[in-house]
Amino acid sequence: MPEPTTQQPTQQPATRAITAGRGHSGRSLAPALWASSVWQSADMADARKRATGIRSGEFYGRFANPTVSSFEDAVAQLEGAESALAFASGMGAISTVVLALCGAGDHIVAQRQLYSATLAFLQGPCARFGIEVTFVDGTEPGAFAAALKPGRTMLAIAETPSNPLLEIVDLDEFGGLRGPITLVDSTFATPLGQQPLAHGVHLSLHSATKGIAGHNDATLGVVSGERDLLDSIWAYSVLHGATPSPFDALNALRGVRTLAVRTKHQSASALELATALQQHPAVQAVHYPGLESHPQHALAVRQMSHFGTVLALDLAGGRAAVEHLLSTVQLVRVATSLGGPETLLCHPRSTTHASLTDEEAAEQGVTPGLLRLSVGLEDPSDVLADLHHALATAPGA
Ligand SMILES: *Cc1c(COP(=O)(O)O)cnc(C)c1O
Repeated sequence: MPEPTTQQPTQQPATRAITAGRGHSGRSLAPALWASSVWQSADMADARKRATGIRSGEFYGRFANPTVSSFEDAVAQLEGAESALAFASGMGAISTVVLALCGAGDHIVAQRQLYSATLAFLQGPCARFGIEVTFVDGTEPGAFAAALKPGRTMLAIAETPSNPLLEIVDLDEFGGLRGPITLVDSTFATPLGQQPLAHGVHLSLHSATKGIAGHNDATLGVVSGERDLLDSIWAYSVLHGATPSPFDALNALRGVRTLAVRTKHQSASALELATALQQHPAVQAVHYPGLESHPQHALAVRQMSHFGTVLALDLAGGRAAVEHLLSTVQLVRVATSLGGPETLLCHPRSTTHASLTDEEAAEQGVTPGLLRLSVGLEDPSDVLADLHHALATAPGA
């Protein structure tokens, strides 16, 4: 069933988030949940057509599902893409794309500061499969281009803003790379914060587990781009099997409907908290692209329409100060993940980056005092009061 053309080209992104992805729900305003893993065919010819067609629907759950397709249509429209493809998780999306596009002897150039599981995938399994990866400083002009190996570099991977230090990669420069397929992990920006495809990037990827689903009740990934490229990734994905659950796609599509208002509130709160916390004597540094003190603030202003819902802070008191803060906050919760309604604190050095040596951690700026704050939907004054109280009672404060 094709997507009905309810969308006007002039529609603003917040409006598109409401109108998109309604093609498989009949007259129901809420998305229909198609729980089925299998569909009947009319006869032999029909069965053959469905089994051998590209992304053919109403055949088998690993090939396509109408609820998942509605979610994909919605994300594609937000990204300004021809097509989108969903996966069981953000890592399902990343690993499938890498293995669909690269094989033994191929080369990948990737940013050094990446989501820890992405980094682990590129360092571990990729090396095991004979895929060579060169890591570069994504903030350094020309670094990606200088690392390309003509004829061998199949994929270039950037993440912006990056985890955990909110580094920004220049999307125009990255999208201008010639040779490899370019992939941007745009999770921290959400589809409303930046549009990598408009900068010439081939693939824009999200862990929809985060801001898109937005309520900590779905595990999902999604990648957007040109239809031909996604069709070829799809052909591998049915073998890889990181198939998204229709239940999670339903929750994520509900998240899309409120994405604009949530990210607007959360980004404004993040800027307010970042501004206040950078004045606090117990806070040595605040990393947030919306702050003028961020080394790439001007670039962020150029390519982002909001600065995202995550900031990082480095406590002057190091690990001891972190320990105190994490056991003293009451409203703010200690948890990983981001983009949900609750404000969350996570300590990268003892969780996502626990396996690094001290030298590797220092090289990546993951200091013992570094905390990642995912700003939720509470009133920011209550979050700040909670953090201020915890900082004021720290030993030596
Ligand atoms: C969470 C996250 C991922 C992985 O997504 P999952 O849904 O947890 O598999 C990838 N990239 C970024 C930037 C993330 O925040």
